[in-house]
Amino acid sequence: MNRFDERDLLLVSIPIVGIAILAELFISLVLKKKIYTLKETATNVYMSVLFAGIDSFLRNIYVLPLLYFFLSQSFFVWPKTWVYWVVAFLLTDLMYFLLHWADHKIRPLWAVHVTHHSSTDFNVTTGFRSPVLQPFYRVFFFAPIAWIGIDPIDIIIVYGVGQIYGALIHTQLVGNLGIFENILVTPSHHRVHHASNTEYLDKNMGMFLIIWDRFFGTFKKEDPNIQLKFGITHEIEDRGPLNIVVHEWKAILKDVQMSPKSIRKKLKILISMDT
Ligand SMILES: [Zn+2]
Ligand SMILES: [Zn+2]
Repeated sequence: MNRFDERDLLLVSIPIVGIAILAELFISLVLKKKIYTLKETATNVYMSVLFAGIDSFLRNIYVLPLLYFFLSQSFFVWPKTWVYWVVAFLLTDLMYFLLHWADHKIRPLWAVHVTHHSSTDFNVTTGFRSPVLQPFYRVFFFAPIAWIGIDPIDIIIVYGVGQIYGALIHTQLVGNLGIFENILVTPSHHRVHHASNTEYLDKNMGMFLIIWDRFFGTFKKEDPNIQLKFGITHEIEDRGPLNIVVHEWKAILKDVQMSPKSIRKKLKILISMDT
């Protein structure tokens, strides 16, 4: 039997994402809602192409060899039954949650992840504004899954499915999804995640299941009475594609230079978000 591979995933996902973007554009025009701006959309496309290039390059020379090394150290051999796939899916979603939590809480990782939050628009293409340097360290969060015996190729497939779902929840056109709001990360939950309103910061970090946020205390429900302000808490003066990637690194360097001479204080500024 031919197994479902990453190319099949791309073939299935491209039309789904394409239709979602066209539908969102069409509805926003009909409703006269300004959801898309040309410059932000162009930046989203640029970031997704750059990310895809770096991601696929690193995958072959570094990510897959490292994951297969961890698999070779595993004591577990799984038959590929539905239990295997459920475990692969749950662990990948949990480790993504932890990766995303670290992205928000450790300043050098935030300097990478901030690209994804930098758009003042919020639409399906925002989901493709990817943190281009993330493929360098993301693998360390998935290595434990390989170590417990999940095939790295399967981790990549399951993660890819989650990422496609994760892109589709970047929309302002889908309201409350009722009972699904309890289990899944919905567009409503992810709008909260992208809002820079103080009460919404660092909330709803899940990709597919919202249960992790509920369990770890980072869940916040969208309040229809609060006007959402998308983007980050301060203005980025230069919104060019290079500065969108490096602006937080510049801020870190500046803060380290300005800080007292003690190495401990400089290290704290380098790592901590509370400075
Ligand atoms: Zn985030
Ligand atoms: Zn997002």
